[in-house]
Amino acid sequence: STFTDYAISDPIIKAIDALEYNQPTPVQARVIPEVLEDKDVIVTSQTGSGKTASFAIPLCEKVDWLENKPQVLVLTPTRELAAQVSDEMKSIGRYKRVNSVAIYGRQSFMKQKTMLKQKTHIVVGTPGRVLDHIEKGTLSVECLKYVVLDEADEMLNMGFIDQVSAILDKLPTSRTTMLFSATFPADIEGLAKKYMINPERIQI
Ligand code: AMP
Repeated sequence: STFTDYAISDPIIKAIDALEYNQPTPVQARVIPEVLEDKDVIVTSQTGSGKTASFAIPLCEKVDWLENKPQVLVLTPTRELAAQVSDEMKSIGRYKRVNSVAIYGRQSFMKQKTMLKQKTHIVVGTPGRVLDHIEKGTLSVECLKYVVLDEADEMLNMGFIDQVSAILDKLPTSRTTMLFSATFPADIEGLAKKYMINPERIQI
């Protein structure tokens, strides 16, 4: 299959071509169509499988450019992963001028507050700092329609379960939720049960 088989617009296809992603990887072939139809997914795939683009491609497609408030929130266990995911969002969204911001701890809160005041389609961050911005009113959640829990088992291993739950409790209930995890301990199953609707399970 090719990326042009999907309902993806020209600016996104152009960016995929520029990145020299010639065809969807197996995880992309499974995940992209589901997310384009706003279905919840639980995904297990190895690193290096193209997992990031499997959500970045359909989410950049789904972003409404005209909306100023964040529409997509990605939670990651580490600052490094947050920066990587935000960079991938910017690469895939570049010809649509999608704006993605990475927010994480040990970086100036004020600087992040200023960034979040600009038109921001996508926010990628670590749970503690994201919750901080939501509670201080510097990150608006009212227009969030898509949430990704990336490396969910790692987030829980690092003790972020309470923050992740607190964030999910504050989001609009009418949304699509994507969960990526290598393992499924009881805590993850609990999150999926509480916060997801009829998720499709994809294992590559
Ligand atoms: P990830 O699994 O998200 O860490 O991605 C692993 C690497 O694969 C990254 O360097 C991506 O740039 C690259 N990649 C993602 N999707 C594709 C694709 N469809 N074709 C070729 N490379 C890809």
